Amino acid sequence: MNCLFCGIVKGEVKGSMVYQDSSVVAFKDINPKAPVHILIVPRKHIATLLDLEPGDRELVGDVFAAASQVARDQGIAENGFRVVANCGPGAGQSVYHIHFHLLGGRHFSWPPG
Ligand code: AMP
Ligand code: ZN
Repeated sequence: MNCLFCGIVKGEVKGSMVYQDSSVVAFKDINPKAPVHILIVPRKHIATLLDLEPGDRELVGDVFAAASQVARDQGIAENGFRVVANCGPGAGQSVYHIHFHLLGGRHFSWPPG
């Protein structure tokens, strides 16, 4: 399996890491859409949100715990931030290893485009 984010998780592909724990890594998005744009990525390869299994529930909790920790570390917690997961082609998913975009440092409109 040739997965870009598995490569970053394993350290075989360079990523700009900002956070790591036993189940999750977080690194800077290579094409940032906001002053702070970090990807929160489970170490386990799961292609899309539709592929989550009951045993992954704790992992999803770990993702959001990491997101809130990284938001604090990056100084965007107070003003507010957004966490986004794109699922499937209609939502613009381009890397098929689940990831959660943590975006901050500017105003975000609603609804998203
Ligand atoms: P999505 O389009 O929701 O699947 O998000 C994939 C994200 O991965 C995009 O925002 C890309 O800019 C980002 N990305 C692609 N390749 C890399 C890379 N090598 N390092 C960091 N981010 C990447
Ligand atoms: Zn993967």
